[in-house]
Amino acid sequence: MDAFHKLALATCQANLEADGEPSAFRPSPAPERSGGLTGRQVRQRYGAHPASWFADLDGYTIPLHMAAMPGGRRLPLLKSMLTTACERNCLYCGFRAGCDPQRVTFQPEELARLFLGLHQRGVAHGLFLSSGILGCGVRAQDGLIDAAEILRHRLHFRGYLHLKIMPGAERDQVARAMQLADRVSINLEAPSAGHLRRLAPRKDFDDELLAGLRWAEEIRQSRPPQSAWRGRWPSTTTQFVVGPAGESDLDLLTLTSRLMSRLGLARAYFESFSPHLGTPLEGVRPEDPLRAHRLYQASFLLRDYGFDLEELAFNPQGGLPRHIDPKLAYARSALAESPVEVNRAPRQQLVRVPGIGPRTAEALLAARRQQALRSLDQLHRLGVIAERAAPYITLDGHAPRRQLPLPGVEPTT
Ligand code: SF4
Repeated sequence: MDAFHKLALATCQANLEADGEPSAFRPSPAPERSGGLTGRQVRQRYGAHPASWFADLDGYTIPLHMAAMPGGRRLPLLKSMLTTACERNCLYCGFRAGCDPQRVTFQPEELARLFLGLHQRGVAHGLFLSSGILGCGVRAQDGLIDAAEILRHRLHFRGYLHLKIMPGAERDQVARAMQLADRVSINLEAPSAGHLRRLAPRKDFDDELLAGLRWAEEIRQSRPPQSAWRGRWPSTTTQFVVGPAGESDLDLLTLTSRLMSRLGLARAYFESFSPHLGTPLEGVRPEDPLRAHRLYQASFLLRDYGFDLEELAFNPQGGLPRHIDPKLAYARSALAESPVEVNRAPRQQLVRVPGIGPRTAEALLAARRQQALRSLDQLHRLGVIAERAAPYITLDGHAPRRQLPLPGVEPTT
Protein backbone atom coordinates (compact mmCIF):
# COMPACT_ATOMS: atom_id res chain seq x y z
CA MET A 1 0.00 0.00 0.00
CA ASP A 2 1.52 3.37 -0.93
CA ALA A 3 1.92 6.26 1.48
CA PHE A 4 -1.02 8.39 0.33
CA HIS A 5 -3.34 5.40 0.41
CA LYS A 6 -2.31 4.75 4.02
CA LEU A 7 -2.73 8.41 4.83
CA ALA A 8 -6.20 8.47 3.27
CA LEU A 9 -7.18 5.58 5.55
CA ALA A 10 -5.53 6.99 8.68
CA THR A 11 -7.03 10.44 8.19
CA CYS A 12 -10.56 9.38 7.21
CA GLN A 13 -10.57 6.87 10.01
CA ALA A 14 -9.03 9.30 12.49
CA ASN A 15 -12.26 11.20 12.28
CA LEU A 16 -14.11 8.20 13.64
CA GLU A 17 -12.19 8.37 16.89
CA ALA A 18 -13.03 10.86 19.61
CA ASP A 19 -9.94 12.99 19.52
CA GLY A 20 -10.21 16.39 21.10
CA GLU A 21 -10.48 18.49 17.93
CA PRO A 22 -13.95 19.28 16.67
CA SER A 23 -14.25 17.23 13.56
CA ALA A 24 -15.37 18.41 10.18
CA PHE A 25 -16.11 14.82 9.43
CA ARG A 26 -18.66 13.76 11.98
CA PRO A 27 -20.05 10.38 11.03
CA SER A 28 -23.60 10.56 9.75
CA PRO A 29 -26.38 9.80 12.24
CA ALA A 30 -26.99 6.44 10.58
CA PRO A 31 -24.64 3.71 11.76
CA GLU A 32 -21.77 3.17 9.36
CA ARG A 33 -18.92 0.80 8.86
CA SER A 34 -15.60 2.24 9.85
CA GLY A 35 -13.56 0.93 6.93
CA GLY A 36 -11.71 3.29 4.58
CA LEU A 37 -13.87 5.59 2.49
CA THR A 38 -13.30 6.37 -1.15
CA GLY A 39 -12.62 9.98 -2.09
CA ARG A 40 -16.07 10.22 -3.64
CA GLN A 41 -17.67 8.83 -0.49
CA VAL A 42 -15.74 11.27 1.66
CA ARG A 43 -16.86 14.22 -0.45
CA GLN A 44 -20.46 13.05 -0.66
CA ARG A 45 -20.70 12.50 3.06
CA TYR A 46 -18.79 15.42 4.44
CA GLY A 47 -18.36 17.93 1.64
CA ALA A 48 -21.15 20.19 2.84
CA HIS A 49 -19.58 20.76 6.25
CA PRO A 50 -18.32 24.37 6.54
CA ALA A 51 -15.04 23.26 8.10
CA SER A 52 -14.29 20.54 5.55
CA TRP A 53 -11.46 20.74 3.08
CA PHE A 54 -9.88 18.16 0.89
CA ALA A 55 -6.56 17.53 -0.76
CA ASP A 56 -6.31 15.31 -3.82
CA LEU A 57 -2.98 13.52 -3.72
CA ASP A 58 -2.12 11.02 -6.43
CA GLY A 59 -5.77 10.06 -6.74
CA TYR A 60 -6.40 9.80 -2.99
CA THR A 61 -8.66 12.23 -1.18
CA ILE A 62 -7.21 13.41 2.12
CA PRO A 63 -9.68 15.19 4.42
CA LEU A 64 -8.34 18.21 6.26
CA HIS A 65 -9.87 19.97 9.21
CA MET A 66 -10.05 23.77 9.07
CA ALA A 67 -9.15 24.36 12.70
CA ALA A 68 -10.09 27.63 14.38
CA MET A 69 -7.00 29.18 15.93
CA PRO A 70 -6.81 31.85 18.64
CA GLY A 71 -7.55 35.18 17.00
CA GLY A 72 -10.01 33.66 14.54
CA ARG A 73 -7.49 32.33 12.00
CA ARG A 74 -8.31 29.02 10.35
CA LEU A 75 -5.59 26.54 9.49
CA PRO A 76 -5.87 23.37 7.44
CA LEU A 77 -4.93 20.67 9.89
CA LEU A 78 -4.08 17.09 9.05
CA LYS A 79 -5.66 14.77 11.61
CA SER A 80 -3.98 11.42 11.49
CA MET A 81 -3.31 8.40 13.61
CA LEU A 82 0.10 6.79 13.84
CA THR A 83 -1.66 3.44 13.92
CA THR A 84 -5.32 2.58 13.65
CA ALA A 85 -4.67 -0.76 15.34
CA CYS A 86 -5.87 -0.90 18.94
CA GLU A 87 -6.21 -3.51 21.64
CA ARG A 88 -8.62 -1.51 23.80
CA ASN A 89 -12.37 -2.00 23.65
CA CYS A 90 -14.04 1.41 23.99
CA LEU A 91 -17.65 0.65 23.23
CA TYR A 92 -18.24 3.61 20.91
CA CYS A 93 -15.08 3.29 18.81
CA GLY A 94 -14.78 1.76 15.36
CA PHE A 95 -11.13 0.88 16.06
CA ARG A 96 -11.81 -1.22 19.14
CA ALA A 97 -10.36 -4.70 19.26
CA GLY A 98 -12.71 -7.01 17.39
CA CYS A 99 -13.85 -4.42 14.82
CA ASP A 100 -12.66 -4.87 11.28
CA PRO A 101 -11.66 -1.53 9.77
CA GLN A 102 -8.76 -1.64 7.34
CA ARG A 103 -5.90 -0.96 9.79
CA VAL A 104 -2.79 0.99 8.89
CA THR A 105 0.40 1.72 10.81
CA PHE A 106 3.09 4.30 10.11
CA GLN A 107 6.61 4.39 11.43
CA PRO A 108 7.11 7.74 13.21
CA GLU A 109 9.64 8.94 10.61
CA GLU A 110 7.42 7.83 7.73
CA LEU A 111 4.50 9.89 8.99
CA ALA A 112 6.68 12.87 9.94
CA ARG A 113 8.20 13.04 6.44
CA LEU A 114 4.86 12.50 4.74
CA PHE A 115 3.29 15.34 6.72
CA LEU A 116 6.25 17.64 6.11
CA GLY A 117 5.91 17.06 2.37
CA LEU A 118 2.25 18.13 2.59
CA HIS A 119 3.23 21.12 4.68
CA GLN A 120 5.86 22.20 2.16
CA ARG A 121 3.30 21.91 -0.65
CA GLY A 122 0.98 24.17 1.34
CA VAL A 123 -1.61 21.41 1.77
CA ALA A 124 -1.58 21.17 5.57
CA HIS A 125 -0.32 23.86 7.93
CA GLY A 126 -0.54 21.83 11.12
CA LEU A 127 -0.77 18.31 12.41
CA PHE A 128 -3.01 16.66 14.99
CA LEU A 129 -1.47 13.32 15.86
CA SER A 130 -3.18 10.53 17.75
CA SER A 131 -2.84 6.76 17.88
CA GLY A 132 -4.49 3.49 18.70
CA ILE A 133 -2.92 1.48 21.51
CA LEU A 134 -0.92 -1.65 20.88
CA GLY A 135 1.10 -2.97 23.80
CA CYS A 136 0.37 -0.17 26.24
CA GLY A 137 -0.19 3.56 26.45
CA VAL A 138 3.49 4.17 27.16
CA ARG A 139 4.49 2.53 23.90
CA ALA A 140 1.86 4.39 21.90
CA GLN A 141 2.98 7.67 23.46
CA ASP A 142 6.60 6.90 22.58
CA GLY A 143 5.56 6.64 18.94
CA LEU A 144 3.84 10.03 19.03
CA ILE A 145 6.81 11.64 20.75
CA ASP A 146 9.24 10.09 18.26
CA ALA A 147 7.25 11.53 15.36
CA ALA A 148 7.15 14.95 17.06
CA GLU A 149 10.90 14.87 17.82
CA ILE A 150 11.66 14.09 14.18
CA LEU A 151 9.40 16.88 12.99
CA ARG A 152 10.78 19.50 15.34
CA HIS A 153 14.47 18.59 15.50
CA ARG A 154 15.38 16.77 12.29
CA LEU A 155 12.91 18.27 9.86
CA HIS A 156 12.74 21.69 11.60
CA PHE A 157 8.95 21.94 11.41
CA ARG A 158 7.92 25.17 13.16
CA GLY A 159 4.15 25.00 12.63
CA TYR A 160 1.20 23.89 14.72
CA LEU A 161 1.41 20.49 16.35
CA HIS A 162 -1.29 18.96 18.57
CA LEU A 163 -0.31 15.75 20.34
CA LYS A 164 -2.68 13.39 22.03
CA ILE A 165 -1.67 12.12 25.46
CA MET A 166 -2.48 8.44 25.46
CA PRO A 167 -4.28 6.69 28.31
CA GLY A 168 -1.57 5.27 30.57
CA ALA A 169 1.22 7.60 29.40
CA GLU A 170 3.83 8.41 32.05
CA ARG A 171 4.49 11.78 33.60
CA ASP A 172 7.85 12.22 31.83
CA GLN A 173 6.15 11.52 28.52
CA VAL A 174 3.55 14.18 29.23
CA ALA A 175 6.38 16.63 29.94
CA ARG A 176 8.21 15.68 26.72
CA ALA A 177 5.04 15.98 24.65
CA MET A 178 4.48 19.42 26.17
CA GLN A 179 7.98 20.48 25.15
CA LEU A 180 7.24 19.63 21.52
CA ALA A 181 3.58 20.51 20.96
CA ASP A 182 1.44 23.64 20.74
CA ARG A 183 -1.44 21.84 22.36
CA VAL A 184 -1.89 18.52 24.14
CA SER A 185 -5.18 16.78 24.81
CA ILE A 186 -6.30 14.02 27.10
CA ASN A 187 -9.77 12.76 26.40
CA LEU A 188 -11.71 12.01 29.56
CA GLU A 189 -14.65 10.77 27.47
CA ALA A 190 -17.01 10.90 30.49
CA PRO A 191 -17.48 13.06 33.59
CA SER A 192 -16.79 10.35 36.19
CA ALA A 193 -15.30 6.90 36.65
CA GLY A 194 -18.79 5.40 36.81
CA HIS A 195 -19.84 6.97 33.53
CA LEU A 196 -16.56 6.01 31.87
CA ARG A 197 -17.09 2.33 32.73
CA ARG A 198 -20.20 2.39 30.52
CA LEU A 199 -18.15 3.67 27.58
CA ALA A 200 -14.61 2.40 27.92
CA PRO A 201 -14.30 -0.44 30.45
CA ARG A 202 -10.52 -0.66 30.09
CA LYS A 203 -9.78 3.00 30.66
CA ASP A 204 -9.04 4.08 34.21
CA PHE A 205 -10.58 7.50 34.83
CA ASP A 206 -8.31 8.60 37.66
CA ASP A 207 -4.99 6.87 37.02
CA GLU A 208 -4.91 6.92 33.21
CA LEU A 209 -6.81 10.06 32.24
CA LEU A 210 -7.27 12.58 35.05
CA ALA A 211 -3.67 12.01 36.17
CA GLY A 212 -2.42 13.28 32.80
CA LEU A 213 -4.37 16.53 33.10
CA ARG A 214 -3.07 16.96 36.65
CA TRP A 215 0.53 16.38 35.55
CA ALA A 216 0.21 18.84 32.70
CA GLU A 217 -0.86 21.57 35.10
CA GLU A 218 1.85 20.65 37.64
CA ILE A 219 4.44 20.85 34.86
CA ARG A 220 3.15 24.27 33.77
CA GLN A 221 3.26 25.52 37.35
CA SER A 222 6.58 24.01 38.47
CA ARG A 223 8.93 24.06 35.50
CA PRO A 224 10.19 27.09 33.63
CA PRO A 225 8.64 27.20 30.15
CA GLN A 226 11.94 27.87 28.37
CA SER A 227 12.38 24.19 27.61
CA ALA A 228 9.10 24.18 25.66
CA TRP A 229 9.73 24.67 21.98
CA ARG A 230 8.08 28.08 21.76
CA GLY A 231 9.25 29.12 25.20
CA ARG A 232 5.75 28.67 26.62
CA TRP A 233 3.83 25.62 27.73
CA PRO A 234 1.05 24.35 25.47
CA SER A 235 -2.61 24.52 26.43
CA THR A 236 -4.52 21.41 27.41
CA THR A 237 -7.93 20.30 26.19
CA THR A 238 -10.21 17.35 26.75
CA GLN A 239 -13.16 15.78 25.03
CA PHE A 240 -16.35 14.09 26.17
CA VAL A 241 -18.49 11.63 24.26
CA VAL A 242 -21.95 13.05 24.92
CA GLY A 243 -24.93 10.77 25.31
CA PRO A 244 -24.47 7.04 25.73
CA ALA A 245 -23.15 7.01 29.31
CA GLY A 246 -26.31 8.66 30.60
CA GLU A 247 -24.44 11.65 32.02
CA SER A 248 -26.27 14.93 32.53
CA ASP A 249 -25.25 18.35 31.25
CA LEU A 250 -24.69 19.34 34.86
CA ASP A 251 -22.28 16.40 35.31
CA LEU A 252 -20.28 17.49 32.26
CA LEU A 253 -20.22 21.17 33.10
CA THR A 254 -19.41 20.63 36.77
CA LEU A 255 -16.27 18.72 35.81
CA THR A 256 -15.42 21.14 32.99
CA SER A 257 -15.70 24.10 35.32
CA ARG A 258 -13.53 22.40 37.94
CA LEU A 259 -10.86 21.48 35.38
CA MET A 260 -10.78 24.99 33.99
CA SER A 261 -10.35 26.59 37.39
CA ARG A 262 -8.05 24.02 39.00
CA LEU A 263 -6.09 22.36 36.20
CA GLY A 264 -5.88 25.15 33.64
CA LEU A 265 -8.01 23.34 31.07
CA ALA A 266 -8.26 25.59 28.01
CA ARG A 267 -11.31 23.99 26.51
CA ALA A 268 -13.62 20.99 26.59
CA TYR A 269 -14.97 19.48 23.39
CA PHE A 270 -18.39 17.87 23.44
CA GLU A 271 -18.76 15.24 20.74
CA SER A 272 -22.35 14.18 20.18
CA PHE A 273 -22.43 10.41 20.15
CA SER A 274 -23.03 8.77 16.79
CA PRO A 275 -23.05 4.96 16.59
CA HIS A 276 -20.78 2.84 14.42
CA LEU A 277 -21.78 -0.51 13.00
CA GLY A 278 -19.93 -3.39 14.52
CA THR A 279 -19.59 -1.76 17.95
CA PRO A 280 -21.62 -2.69 21.04
CA LEU A 281 -23.34 0.70 20.83
CA GLU A 282 -24.44 0.37 17.20
CA GLY A 283 -28.09 0.22 18.24
CA VAL A 284 -27.97 3.23 20.54
CA ARG A 285 -29.66 6.30 19.15
CA PRO A 286 -27.43 9.21 18.13
CA GLU A 287 -27.30 12.15 20.50
CA ASP A 288 -29.02 15.36 19.46
CA PRO A 289 -26.26 17.71 18.17
CA LEU A 290 -28.17 20.61 19.74
CA ARG A 291 -27.23 19.21 23.13
CA ALA A 292 -23.51 19.56 22.36
CA HIS A 293 -24.17 23.05 20.99
CA ARG A 294 -25.77 24.13 24.29
CA LEU A 295 -22.90 22.55 26.22
CA TYR A 296 -20.40 24.58 24.19
CA GLN A 297 -22.36 27.76 24.81
CA ALA A 298 -22.50 27.06 28.54
CA SER A 299 -18.80 26.19 28.76
CA PHE A 300 -17.89 29.47 27.03
CA LEU A 301 -20.02 31.35 29.57
CA LEU A 302 -18.02 29.66 32.32
CA ARG A 303 -14.66 30.26 30.67
CA ASP A 304 -14.96 33.64 28.95
CA TYR A 305 -17.87 35.44 30.62
CA GLY A 306 -17.18 34.75 34.29
CA PHE A 307 -20.41 32.87 34.89
CA ASP A 308 -20.66 30.53 37.86
CA LEU A 309 -22.26 27.16 37.37
CA GLU A 310 -25.02 28.20 39.81
CA GLU A 311 -26.09 30.97 37.44
CA LEU A 312 -26.98 28.53 34.66
CA ALA A 313 -30.47 27.09 34.43
CA PHE A 314 -30.78 23.30 34.63
CA ASN A 315 -33.90 21.15 34.71
CA PRO A 316 -34.40 18.69 37.59
CA GLN A 317 -32.50 16.02 35.62
CA GLY A 318 -29.49 18.32 35.25
CA GLY A 319 -30.15 19.20 31.61
CA LEU A 320 -29.71 22.62 30.01
CA PRO A 321 -32.79 23.92 28.24
CA ARG A 322 -32.48 22.98 24.56
CA HIS A 323 -34.94 25.52 23.13
CA ILE A 324 -33.05 28.56 24.34
CA ASP A 325 -29.39 29.41 24.71
CA PRO A 326 -28.09 29.38 28.28
CA LYS A 327 -27.27 33.08 28.37
CA LEU A 328 -30.76 34.06 27.29
CA ALA A 329 -32.21 31.65 29.87
CA TYR A 330 -30.11 33.39 32.53
CA ALA A 331 -31.18 36.86 31.37
CA ARG A 332 -34.87 35.99 31.39
CA SER A 333 -34.70 34.82 34.97
CA ALA A 334 -32.14 37.28 36.39
CA LEU A 335 -32.22 40.46 34.29
CA ALA A 336 -35.80 40.86 33.08
CA GLU A 337 -36.79 42.51 36.38
CA SER A 338 -33.38 44.03 37.13
CA PRO A 339 -31.98 45.37 33.84
CA VAL A 340 -28.33 46.37 33.56
CA GLU A 341 -27.56 50.09 33.27
CA VAL A 342 -25.16 50.25 30.34
CA ASN A 343 -23.62 53.58 31.39
CA ARG A 344 -22.62 52.40 34.86
CA ALA A 345 -22.44 48.59 35.02
CA PRO A 346 -19.06 46.93 35.47
CA ARG A 347 -17.74 44.63 32.78
CA GLN A 348 -18.89 41.44 34.53
CA GLN A 349 -22.50 42.68 34.43
CA LEU A 350 -22.31 43.91 30.85
CA VAL A 351 -21.18 40.52 29.55
CA ARG A 352 -24.20 38.88 31.21
CA VAL A 353 -26.52 40.77 28.85
CA PRO A 354 -27.53 38.82 25.71
CA GLY A 355 -26.03 40.49 22.66
CA ILE A 356 -22.97 41.77 24.54
CA GLY A 357 -19.78 39.71 24.45
CA PRO A 358 -16.39 40.30 26.09
CA ARG A 359 -15.10 42.41 23.18
CA THR A 360 -18.28 44.44 22.91
CA ALA A 361 -18.22 45.06 26.65
CA GLU A 362 -14.73 46.56 26.29
CA ALA A 363 -16.00 48.77 23.45
CA LEU A 364 -18.90 49.96 25.63
CA LEU A 365 -16.60 50.74 28.55
CA ALA A 366 -14.33 52.80 26.27
CA ALA A 367 -17.22 54.60 24.53
CA ARG A 368 -19.06 55.59 27.68
CA ARG A 369 -15.91 57.32 28.98
CA GLN A 370 -16.37 59.72 26.06
CA GLN A 371 -20.14 60.22 26.20
CA ALA A 372 -23.29 58.78 27.70
CA LEU A 373 -24.88 56.00 25.67
CA ARG A 374 -28.55 56.81 25.06
CA SER A 375 -29.71 54.86 22.03
CA LEU A 376 -29.73 51.37 20.59
CA ASP A 377 -28.15 52.82 17.45
CA GLN A 378 -25.09 53.82 19.45
CA LEU A 379 -24.90 50.32 20.94
CA HIS A 380 -25.35 48.73 17.54
CA ARG A 381 -22.42 50.75 16.16
CA LEU A 382 -20.27 49.42 19.01
CA GLY A 383 -21.06 45.82 18.09
CA VAL A 384 -23.95 45.10 20.44
CA ILE A 385 -26.80 42.98 19.05
CA ALA A 386 -29.17 45.69 20.13
CA GLU A 387 -32.53 43.96 19.74
CA ARG A 388 -31.28 41.05 21.80
CA ALA A 389 -29.88 43.27 24.55
CA ALA A 390 -32.79 45.75 24.70
CA PRO A 391 -35.12 43.89 27.12
CA TYR A 392 -32.32 43.56 29.68
CA ILE A 393 -30.73 47.02 29.75
CA THR A 394 -31.41 50.61 30.62
CA LEU A 395 -29.76 53.64 29.02
CA ASP A 396 -29.40 56.47 31.49
CA GLY A 397 -32.12 54.98 33.64
CA HIS A 398 -34.63 54.44 30.82
CA ALA A 399 -35.68 51.35 28.92
CA PRO A 400 -34.33 51.80 25.38
CA ARG A 401 -36.75 52.69 22.61
CA ARG A 402 -36.77 49.87 20.14
CA GLN A 403 -38.58 48.47 17.14
CA LEU A 404 -40.62 45.38 17.83
CA PRO A 405 -38.92 42.26 16.46
CA LEU A 406 -40.68 40.41 13.67
CA PRO A 407 -43.02 37.75 15.09
CA GLY A 408 -41.32 34.38 15.44
CA VAL A 409 -37.84 35.78 14.76
CA GLU A 410 -35.39 35.33 17.59
CA PRO A 411 -31.91 36.84 17.34
CA THR A 412 -29.26 34.17 17.61
CA THR A 413 -26.21 35.47 19.46
S1 SF4 B 1 -8.19 3.56 22.94
FE1 SF4 B 1 -10.40 3.32 22.68
S2 SF4 B 1 -11.02 5.22 21.61
FE2 SF4 B 1 -8.79 5.01 21.34
S3 SF4 B 1 -8.52 3.90 19.40
FE3 SF4 B 1 -8.52 2.37 21.05
S4 SF4 B 1 -10.63 1.64 21.22
FE4 SF4 B 1 -10.64 3.58 20.06
